[in-house]
Amino acid sequence: MKILVTGGSGLVGKHLQEILPNITYLSSKESSITYLSSKDCDLTDIKMVRWMISSYTPDVVVHLAAKVGGIQDNIKYPADYFDDNILMNTNILKACKEYNIKRFVGILSTCIYPNIVETYPMSEEDLFIGPPPPTNFSYAFAKRCLAVQIDAYNKQFGTKYNYLIPCNLYGDYDNLHDESKMHFITALLNKIKNAKGKQLNLLGTGKPLRQFMYAGDLARIIKEVIDKDITESFNVAPDFNYSINEMAKVALEVTGNDYKIIYDQPELDGQYRKDVSNKKLLEIFPNFKFTQLKTGLKQVYDKIS
Ligand code: NAP
Repeated sequence: MKILVTGGSGLVGKHLQEILPNITYLSSKESSITYLSSKDCDLTDIKMVRWMISSYTPDVVVHLAAKVGGIQDNIKYPADYFDDNILMNTNILKACKEYNIKRFVGILSTCIYPNIVETYPMSEEDLFIGPPPPTNFSYAFAKRCLAVQIDAYNKQFGTKYNYLIPCNLYGDYDNLHDESKMHFITALLNKIKNAKGKQLNLLGTGKPLRQFMYAGDLARIIKEVIDKDITESFNVAPDFNYSINEMAKVALEVTGNDYKIIYDQPELDGQYRKDVSNKKLLEIFPNFKFTQLKTGLKQVYDKIS
């Protein structure tokens, strides 16, 4: 089986490479897996995307690539987040259909869910009952469109494409050099590492609730989806849903620190909660075990220390 992974140089892509190592080159007829970065193919350029898909002719495309960023960047550049993600998603999906690619797995995000619903955790049926949160509205809406697009392709063309909706992620391969690009957990651990005067300064109020998943867990689910040819679309998130404050306390505990936590700029809280149900995931993979938060945090902290 030939597998092509977009976004292979990102956090999830690198975790996937650990369990599905890069073993091929262009147009191999053998079983193979190829990881692409934006340097190999700019997915906003339809000509390059068509060239890539027609040259590789994969059996499966795992589409991880996205323009991803923090709240402040999303607020400053909403048009870029919308355009780039809509273009990338549309181009790759269209090319897969044109070249009869058998399987396409798109990776979305729980931020595509409505800002507020009556009952939590949200299930897959809740996706369209309200607009996504205002803070990253254009990114979330663009990613939500991919769910609509995939469902539409399946209905109109009879394709067997699907999408996974993971919660917030953290992992071993985050950008450790540029704080503005770091994901929340890495930024938190980095702040603990560099904290001065027994004080930990965090943005927001510490009250929002979040599900955080070790990126290696998502990689394992993607591998299972490919191996078992799963065509359903579903959420990927652990059961635990901690407040930012609880998470900061766990991080202090596993790193052996007892700093006082000081919160600043409450307007940067973002959505209050967005926890999703993993019922469907566990029906498909009943034995799947998520990495516990303490274990994952310790692993990432050891990596950055
Ligand atoms: P990431 O670390 O930011 O990596 C993004 C990847 O997309 C990189 O490989 C990047 O290539 C590629 N990319 C960006 N623009 C591109 C373009 N124009 N053409 C081709 N490739 C392009 O992202 P991640 O954290 O691994 O996320 C993977 C997927 O999971 C994304 O779809 C994201 O929305 C979703 N997700 C992430 C989180 C999270 O907390 N990280 C949570 C939920 C869902 P370069 O390295 O060359 O720039």
